[in-house]
Amino acid sequence: MNDGLFDQFKTWYEKRHDYARDWKARTGGQVVATMCTYTPEELLIAAGMLPVRVLGAHEPQNVTEPHIFGMFCPFCRDSLAQGLLGRFDYAEGVTLTQSCIQYRQAFNSWRMHVPTVTWDYYLPMPNDVQSPHARKAHHAEVQAFREFLEALTGKKITDEMLQESIAVVDENRRLLRELFDLRKVADPQVTGVEALYASLTAQFIDKREHNEQLKKVLAALPNRNLNRPEGVRFMTIGSENDDIAFMAMIESVGGTIVIDDQCSGTRYFWNESLPEADPIKAIADRYCDRPACPTKDYPNHTRFDHVLGLAKDYNARAAIFLQQKFCDPHEGDYPDLKRHLEDNGIPTLFLEFDITNPIGPFRIRVEAFLETLTEDELF
Ligand code: SF4
Repeated sequence: MNDGLFDQFKTWYEKRHDYARDWKARTGGQVVATMCTYTPEELLIAAGMLPVRVLGAHEPQNVTEPHIFGMFCPFCRDSLAQGLLGRFDYAEGVTLTQSCIQYRQAFNSWRMHVPTVTWDYYLPMPNDVQSPHARKAHHAEVQAFREFLEALTGKKITDEMLQESIAVVDENRRLLRELFDLRKVADPQVTGVEALYASLTAQFIDKREHNEQLKKVLAALPNRNLNRPEGVRFMTIGSENDDIAFMAMIESVGGTIVIDDQCSGTRYFWNESLPEADPIKAIADRYCDRPACPTKDYPNHTRFDHVLGLAKDYNARAAIFLQQKFCDPHEGDYPDLKRHLEDNGIPTLFLEFDITNPIGPFRIRVEAFLETLTEDELF
């Protein structure tokens, strides 16, 4: 039953390029293609720009091979293809905050070969965010990005403007947390697909508009009755995921996705900034403190207990790893994280993702996994 409550998010997701072009025509502001969710959006918003996260299109393509290796992750290749195919021709700027080397290659190719780019910025965020020096280093880098944007636009970005954009972005994080917390209960009135639409669209829709839509949905949810069988409560784990068809399949064969640890989901919004007189410190610290991507989670693997904690808090019965093929950072984490979850009573399923994914075979794998879970419950 579709009561239309999340249709605005679905439309924003499906028509995201049209939205960005329309926003530009409405505001006269610049649009910036952002690569990786460690990008300090607060700076771009304070500069009057629209940050638009680069997502793939899940279509076969033949444009990236001359630029990045075929054994780079599908998300890298699909992202770069969107630039090379002109899908982001409305974005003057492109920026990457250091995460993994594969995505850095995709960024370098984008800034060299996408003709509509007029400026680019690489933000070298420390990977070792646990280091005592990380915050000081990242503070300096975020400040340097601020100065770059001021020089680019010829306009000052004051502390007040930054505090205001921090407030808008933190409100978005708070509202998304509120929405996701509603999935802790039995028979949640928000499906995994709907939650993904909400978290994904936050990454390319004007935050003020997104906040208004979230408030409307949150106000309507208490009276919602989805009347669908909950089935097995799943958690999804991995890097970027906007494979809506796959998520919908899980929720059509006897499962409900109740939480995730992915950069398209909770890792993007889980923590807010702490109040600071110095807004640059507030921003830099917030990104160092957020739930870590494997590229930034050492020497201590803080992620393992965080993921287990989410599974327990949301009463996930089992977890599915959505592994992007050739993704070294997540592949490196997988064996230990799998063991950590299974040792604590959370069975797992591993699925490898490419640019286009075979729903049929995945369905068979998920249904077989479901059978093992329901059998366990019987015995
Ligand atoms: S972290 Fe993994 S999925 Fe993300 S861009 Fe890097 S290789 Fe690809």
